[in-house]
Amino acid sequence: VIDGESLRVDGARLWRRIEEMAEIGATERGGCNRQALTDGDRQGRDLFVSWARQLGCDVTVDRIGNLIARRSGTDDGLPPVLMGSHLDTQPTGGRFDGVYGVLAGLEIIEVLNRAAVDTRHSIELAVWTNEEGARFSPAMLGSGVWTGTFALDAVLQAADRDGVTVRTALDAIGYAGPVAASAHPLRAAFELHIEQGPILERAGLQIGVVTGVQGIRWYDLGLTGTPAHAGPTPMDLRQDPFQALSLVLPEIYGLATSRPPWGRATVGNVVAVPGVRNTIPERVDISVDLRHPDEATLDVMEAELRAVVGRAEKATGVTATLTENFRSDAVRFSDACVSSIRTAADHLGVITAELVSGAGHDSVHLARIAPTGMIFIPCRGGISHNELESAEPADVTLGADILLGAVLDQADVVGSSSS
Ligand SMILES: [Zn+2]
Repeated sequence: VIDGESLRVDGARLWRRIEEMAEIGATERGGCNRQALTDGDRQGRDLFVSWARQLGCDVTVDRIGNLIARRSGTDDGLPPVLMGSHLDTQPTGGRFDGVYGVLAGLEIIEVLNRAAVDTRHSIELAVWTNEEGARFSPAMLGSGVWTGTFALDAVLQAADRDGVTVRTALDAIGYAGPVAASAHPLRAAFELHIEQGPILERAGLQIGVVTGVQGIRWYDLGLTGTPAHAGPTPMDLRQDPFQALSLVLPEIYGLATSRPPWGRATVGNVVAVPGVRNTIPERVDISVDLRHPDEATLDVMEAELRAVVGRAEKATGVTATLTENFRSDAVRFSDACVSSIRTAADHLGVITAELVSGAGHDSVHLARIAPTGMIFIPCRGGISHNELESAEPADVTLGADILLGAVLDQADVVGSSSS
């Protein structure tokens, strides 16, 4: 009797599917341009649907174009275990971001079919619409609608640069489906993805167990002083926004460097007005991006940022305004899913790293409605959102084996009908 623990994916077959999918929207430098709801996306979806149907899955299409392939379990009343990711890419994207998680899911279904393994819970494989946000905003749109984070009618009206709406583009590629775009109960949700950062490669490890996703807060800091001549104005009689900024900047970076390894602080833009060489500026505006996996810590970082700005005002006579203009709450993945992933890795004798994702993923939305977990594999040089994005075949295979183990841990193997 096959217990599931001896099952392994066929890495060569998975790799061939990745290569075949990469031919759709292939770019000259070896990447992919298969942006959401374009004709390339249609072709990629068509290929996925044909593969899933060949494997005996039912495939449903919902109103926002999400695809869910289903391999029935022995007890249809139980909530399914869901795998999933996305097939859309950046305009100059790679072959692995999103695609890997989807095609590894197909490979797992094929392995289970060939071994005739039955699970009590059904297994589902989702392809979420417009994860990248390259053509339509917001990113992670399909999973966001499915989990109730975004309203369907609002996102159907979102338009690309040419004024084409999501509704029109979905109709044009034939993927405005009949099924309601709303979540059903899930036993667990897993997403397998390339890391899109350098940590695993640097540590020489093949598997990252993702425990959560960084919270993000964006601020605009405006510093207003008194414009004056660079020559005649004595240093102690200035209200100089750049002098204030010089006090603030080291402390902003300190907010992150004092909280290793996950604290992040980035000043991505500076605008000075009037921005002239021999005039003390009237105003300097900067953007501040703070990240941490723990919301309470982010609250403290924000409080410290406000205190830092207040001290700079006092020291320089400059007036400051600090406004938050965006936030994405930190996500902590389910202990049960993290444990299933760890168990699968232990079973294969694989040493794992515990990671927090710095990028957003569909799993951020899924985690609001279901126990959710993510697995990372390294990508070469940590490079992603780039045509040169690349991953080692051995890592690709191992990641899929860990996903297989985690899914079976949650889906309850009842045995093999052929044995
Ligand atoms: Zn992705």
